[in-house]
Amino acid sequence: MLRDTYIEVDLDRLAHNVKAIRERVGNHACICAVVKADAYGHGSIECAKTIMESGGDYLAVAALTEALELRQVYPDYRIFIMGYTSDENLKYVVKNDITQCIFTYEQALLLDKLGREYNRKPKIHIKYDTGFNRIGFRDCEESIEKIKEIVKLRNIECEGIFSHFALVNDDENKRQFNAFTTAVERIESAGFKFGYKHICDSIAAIDYPEFCLNMIRPGAILYGMKSFRKNDLDIKQVMKFKTKIAYIKSLKKGEGVSYNHKYKAQRDMLLATIPVGYADGFPRNMFEVGEVTVRGTRVPVAGVICMDQCMIDVTDVEGVGAGDEVIIYGDEEENAVTFAEASQKGGTNKNELLCRFTRRTPRVYIRKGIRIKELNYLLPDLPKEDY
Ligand SMILES: *Cc1c(COP(=O)(O)O)cnc(C)c1O
Repeated sequence: MLRDTYIEVDLDRLAHNVKAIRERVGNHACICAVVKADAYGHGSIECAKTIMESGGDYLAVAALTEALELRQVYPDYRIFIMGYTSDENLKYVVKNDITQCIFTYEQALLLDKLGREYNRKPKIHIKYDTGFNRIGFRDCEESIEKIKEIVKLRNIECEGIFSHFALVNDDENKRQFNAFTTAVERIESAGFKFGYKHICDSIAAIDYPEFCLNMIRPGAILYGMKSFRKNDLDIKQVMKFKTKIAYIKSLKKGEGVSYNHKYKAQRDMLLATIPVGYADGFPRNMFEVGEVTVRGTRVPVAGVICMDQCMIDVTDVEGVGAGDEVIIYGDEEENAVTFAEASQKGGTNKNELLCRFTRRTPRVYIRKGIRIKELNYLLPDLPKEDY
């Protein structure tokens, strides 16, 4: 490998998670797998394939560019843009057979016009806002009338309708769910039937099986992030973040380390430098709280985390040497910091940690414990003779 700092993505674990979700929701609900933000940092191209081959039915992204990235590689997968696409870009949705979220009558009309122009029938899912107040038709009489007009348009296929939970509490979730299903029933009372109705993200799909309807939109859970309350679902963290020690030296008590010498050696110590910094996705605020794992031992970050490097205190690691593997995020079983633990320490959530990884950090894909592929965003075309 050309860089010691990398992300390991276990595709078997990803496949396992998809199957576990499938088992949980049964066959009546389609899995619309959320692979936005480069599949939460795991690499959307590789992950999309594994997900679809393991029981996924649909792929969901946030933005047109993400949809087009997938479409270039996968001509046949169903791809859904959950977010807004501007009027001027709707033609790319049509030309590339992508399903678009729609929440205004005007855009529905425009898409209908484009459908006629390109001689296609673009699919849409209508976004119905039941209280998140982000995008969507507001929950009111006028919206229901407008949606009834949209479903009549001839050159678009009104395939689905969806909403999103704000996940405030049980009562509010129930209220949102009821608002959604009531609106859907009223629209459908005129005789029209939506193919897909969906409101559940990862947490809701597991904690409220009765809200799954006939489609769910799991994201975080695919990648093994557990935020739901029911803890009987066996899902596994897909990603690990690793590097290797670049350099080790002895420090005398009282010597300062890194910017502003905010860290001072409390004793004579062994200090290791690792080639990972906040430009790789290791948050700067992990200084003082961050720990990494070397030879099975947890060791603290020593000094302010720099853009490309940081230092760790390896005094207590027996036999430590340059070149040793360092696990920044990993499994509990290997005494590593999980994303759940790191998010608490870093004062953020697991998804944000996953999305922070940058182009510089290669993704290494493994199957059955063996490296099968490396994705290096900086050198995408470099041959990988080593694998
Ligand atoms: C991101 C997103 C999801 C997936 O959310 P998770 O919490 O990761 O499961 C589902 N639906 C919408 C509309 C989203 O934006």
